[in-house]
Amino acid sequence: MASNSCCCSSDSNNNNQSSSNNIAGSNQKRPPRKNGFQYPFHLFQVATWLLFPLILVQYYAFLMPLLWSSEGVHILLTVIYTCSAVGTVVAVYFTVGTDPIDETYSGNEVQHQHRIGQSEANNNIHCYLCERDVHSSSKHCRECDKCVMRFDHHCKWLNTCIGAKNYFYFLCILVAVKLLTLESLAISIALLVEAFTSSERLMDQIDMLLGLSMDAVKGLLIASILILLVLVTMLVQLGSFHVVLLYRGLTTYDFIVLEQKRLRDKEQERIRLKLQKQNNKPQPSPEDPRSEGRGTEMQVAPISGSEQRVARGYEVATTEDA
Ligand SMILES: [Zn+2]
Ligand SMILES: [Zn+2]
Repeated sequence: MASNSCCCSSDSNNNNQSSSNNIAGSNQKRPPRKNGFQYPFHLFQVATWLLFPLILVQYYAFLMPLLWSSEGVHILLTVIYTCSAVGTVVAVYFTVGTDPIDETYSGNEVQHQHRIGQSEANNNIHCYLCERDVHSSSKHCRECDKCVMRFDHHCKWLNTCIGAKNYFYFLCILVAVKLLTLESLAISIALLVEAFTSSERLMDQIDMLLGLSMDAVKGLLIASILILLVLVTMLVQLGSFHVVLLYRGLTTYDFIVLEQKRLRDKEQERIRLKLQKQNNKPQPSPEDPRSEGRGTEMQVAPISGSEQRVARGYEVATTEDA
């Protein structure tokens, strides 16, 4: 999810190289994206804009006419659904419309601070792409070309960065869309069960309000349930993931970095133990016919393709980190 890397550093050893890279690319520099409503739109974002109205149409044009009208159940369900839909739209508007850029330090003040060497004392870091100091929790998003405070991730579905300024609205989207899709899924399943029990109420409603055959309604309900199941599963997973992040006080970016480091350390340890095990094996005698042509040098276990890739990846990562 977090497809961006941090270009911020307080290490003065990187100054010259980073500054020269920035100067070389400064002629083609575009202004940073302000929010997710700006061009260019991402393909996933367009897909979201198409999918959301379809979900609403599925409820209001297909499910709502078939709801149970006794004791106002249909009103209650529709009110809950409408509140979730409005909540989703409002939360999306604020998430996408908010510019999550780091404005902790203004340009002139910061450059002055950096010159006189107060950056590290103030616990801020310098971004050589933005050419200014930023908050220590900020990361530079390459998609948006700006530093985002408490950077969580760049969301392709919303085409904007999620950071300190819009994380709350992002969580509101997750809650509202989950309610929306869960309600549609529950109603679709209940109606499908009713359809297979040859309910007279349902048949009357279909004849009177939809003008479809029972088989067509069953087919539409099954298709709806399959699509909604996928959406609900994704949303529950994503929501649970962010609950865990909140509990651990991490961002998505922090989690990915920690997880990559854990996997890299684990793989390195596995390779190290494997090599150590091979090296501790008794060496074959030079007279041993099986050792012919091998000499007396210590034999090293061949490293598999995946291990070589991991080792190369580790080297690259180590070089980049340095
Ligand atoms: Zn930056
Ligand atoms: Zn971004």
